[in-house]
Amino acid sequence: MRFTTLGTGTISLSPGRSCAGYILESPGVRLLVDCGSGVTRRLAELGIEWQTITHVALSHFHIDHHGDLPTLIFAWKYGFLPSRTLPVEIIGPPGTKALLERLSAAYGEWLLAPGFPVSIREVTPADVVELPGHMKLRVHPVPHTPESVAYSFERVGRRIVYTGDTGPSDALAAWAYGCDLLVCECSLPREMSIPEHLTPEQCGELAAAAAPKHLALTHFYPPVEDVDIHSIVGVRYAGPVTLAGRLRLDETDPKGRAAIETLRAHGTDPGAIVVPSPAVQTGQQGTYVFVVKADQTVEMRSVNVARVRGGETVIKDGVKPGETVVTDGHLRLVPGSHISVKPAAGAEKATS
Ligand SMILES: [Zn+2]
Ligand SMILES: [Zn+2]
Repeated sequence: MRFTTLGTGTISLSPGRSCAGYILESPGVRLLVDCGSGVTRRLAELGIEWQTITHVALSHFHIDHHGDLPTLIFAWKYGFLPSRTLPVEIIGPPGTKALLERLSAAYGEWLLAPGFPVSIREVTPADVVELPGHMKLRVHPVPHTPESVAYSFERVGRRIVYTGDTGPSDALAAWAYGCDLLVCECSLPREMSIPEHLTPEQCGELAAAAAPKHLALTHFYPPVEDVDIHSIVGVRYAGPVTLAGRLRLDETDPKGRAAIETLRAHGTDPGAIVVPSPAVQTGQQGTYVFVVKADQTVEMRSVNVARVRGGETVIKDGVKPGETVVTDGHLRLVPGSHISVKPAAGAEKATS
C-alpha cells in the first residue's frame, strides 16, 4: 500500500497547502481519501493517474474535504479521450448519498450519471468493506461532526489509519492500536484548542495510546505551524513522526533514518517532504539538503544557496526541475533554473 498526501491544509487557505486529500494505491485499488479544494490540481502536479481512480472515500461533509469532487467527476467525464468507462465507487458515512444528490441537483444530472457507473456505498462501523487486491476498509466514528469517521485500510498484514478531522478520542486510539501508519490531524495550537480538533499535545497523547509504528501529522491550520510540533509530540510518543508537507528528518539520527526508510517503504509524496540538517542558511555554499527525486527515492545533496529575495531563499544550483528539496520551511517548485524556498526561522535569523 502506498499512501500519498495531496492536501495537508484546511479551510484556512494557505499558499503551501491544499485542502484535505490523500491517495491510497495498492494492486487493483486507486482510492482517493477526501477531495478538498486544490486536490485535483495536486493529482496532476504529482503525476498521479487520476483518470483511473477506482474509489473515493469521504471522512465527513465539510467542504474542505469534498469541494473538488464535482470537479473530479467532470474531469472524468470531459477531461480526456477516450471517455471514461471505468466504474467509480464513492464511499462515505450515512448521508453521503444525500450529499451527492444535493450536489447533483445543483450542478446537473451528469454528477451521478456521467456516462460511466457511479455507485455510492454508505458504511457504518459494523461493516468490513472488501476492496480489490485483498484490501479491507473499515470506519470508526470520531468526535468532529455527527457523521465524521476515521478510516482503516488493511492489506497483507499492514494497516494504515487516517483519522480524518477529529477531537480527542480514547476509542479512536484503541481502534487504531498497533497500526503501521497513523495519519492524524493536527489542527491547532494549545491556545486555540477546541473539542472538534487536535492540538500537537493531543496528537502525542493519541499516538502514545495507539502506538503506531509511524505517525504522520496533517491538516495544519497556519497558527499550529508556528509551534514546535516535533518537540511537543516527542515527549509523549517516542516513535517516528512525519509532518506532512514539512518533514523534519535527520539522516544522521537513527530515528530519522528509520523514518526515511519507512517513508520509502510506504511511498513518499514528492510534493511533501523531508528535511535537511542543518537548516538551509543563506549565503552558504555547499549546504546539504534532502532531495526527493521523481522516482521517490531520497538523496542527500549539496546545493548552492544564493540569496534572499522578497523573503524567499533561492537555491541556485544543485537541484533539477521536477525534484523536491526539503528544508525547514515550505517550499515551492519553480520549473526552470531555481527553486524558491521560504526561509526557516533559523535561516531568517542568519541573514539579519
Ligand atoms: Zn477539515
Ligand atoms: Zn471538518
